Amino acid sequence: MADPPGKKKPSELRVEEAASIGPIDVFVTCCPKDLTMFEDARKTAGLEQAFVVEDIAELVACAVELGTLTLHDVPSLVERISATVVERIGAQLEEKLKGIGELRAVPASGSGAALPVAETARAASHATAAPPQTWRIRPLTPAIFPGYVAPAKNGRRFLVAVKHVAKLSDDFRVADGARDIASDYFDYQLNEFDDVALEQALRTAESFRDSEVVVVTVGSAGAEDTLRKALAKGAHRGLRIESGTLGFADPLAVARLLAGIVVAEQPELVFCGVQSSDQANAATGSALARLVGYACAAVAVATEWDGGGVMCVTRELEGGLRHEINVPVPAVITMQAGANIPRYATMRMQKDAKTKPVVDVTPEAADLAPVGGDVGAIALPSVKRATILAGNPDDTAREVLNLVRKHIGGHS
Ligand code: AMP
Repeated sequence: MADPPGKKKPSELRVEEAASIGPIDVFVTCCPKDLTMFEDARKTAGLEQAFVVEDIAELVACAVELGTLTLHDVPSLVERISATVVERIGAQLEEKLKGIGELRAVPASGSGAALPVAETARAASHATAAPPQTWRIRPLTPAIFPGYVAPAKNGRRFLVAVKHVAKLSDDFRVADGARDIASDYFDYQLNEFDDVALEQALRTAESFRDSEVVVVTVGSAGAEDTLRKALAKGAHRGLRIESGTLGFADPLAVARLLAGIVVAEQPELVFCGVQSSDQANAATGSALARLVGYACAAVAVATEWDGGGVMCVTRELEGGLRHEINVPVPAVITMQAGANIPRYATMRMQKDAKTKPVVDVTPEAADLAPVGGDVGAIALPSVKRATILAGNPDDTAREVLNLVRKHIGGHS
């Protein structure tokens, strides 16, 4: 909003109000832009000596003595902060839910690793008249694979999650049912991040005798191709988790399935890619770690493990910074692309891979339900025209609203 000419600016009024309540030391804002605005207002209102203006982040930094922390302290600090936040929000949420008719909170049962998630009754998504939505909090737990028993362990076991990723051709058609693209328009390949994860697992496994690298994928029958590629490079056996009609835009559902296999296989280390090149959720690995109670190091560019209780991981941070941490084993490591040069599988290796075992496993039907979200319907826009909206967020929002009203209708 433009400041009305000839009137005091709202920011000047606010600093004057602050000064009028008595002597104050600090005027706190919670936005970097506000910080500049109130700094200016303090000067123009002649209150420069009255108090200082600080961002709340600066106060928090001071309270946690951020200056004295080293990068090594960060993971445990983040853990402590998130545990506290989850604890507080969980209690408040439950309190709020109590007051709302049909809503009820289901207390998390079992392991402390269970993640609470909000789930909506999905029946609404395809029905014409939407029934009232019911929400409940339920713990997120690893999927169950009835009848699957992992082979006995003879040494260290490394699990690698490899995704059969889809590359869409330029021309495509929405599949019948309007929930996906018709499958013949996809080209599938091994996710490049998972190729790096596999290489890291193979190199780690090579330093131990009797170690085993197991590759696992969630996908339909065609995903076996990707498992075979991984087996050709040196993985020992493969597992394909039947995905049913599960949509892959839901990393929590995939993480639950992978978690069920981690529970069955009990690997020391799980290697994933940082992200899948088709969905790029960049969420599956960390969700998986949380579900099984493993430690997690994300965006790894190097790892070193001597078989002990701790693994040294170098992670890539923003701006090219690197962060070296000791991660307790068992752990999930998500590998960044470029961390190593994946090996090439020769024709002979590919041929040998044909005889390696691949087991198909099917979870309980309930485990194939979406967790975080589901695709209702997809459609291509009938009008192929683009409008670029420029300007400040308020104007842009108004323009979007007008466009929606004009083309779809509605009043709000
Ligand atoms: P995303 O969270 O979708 O970006 O994927 C991150 C990583 O999770 C991938 O690099 C894989 O290691 C793993 N992942 C995701 N989807 C699948 C899947 N369908 N099957 C096996 N692993 C997967």
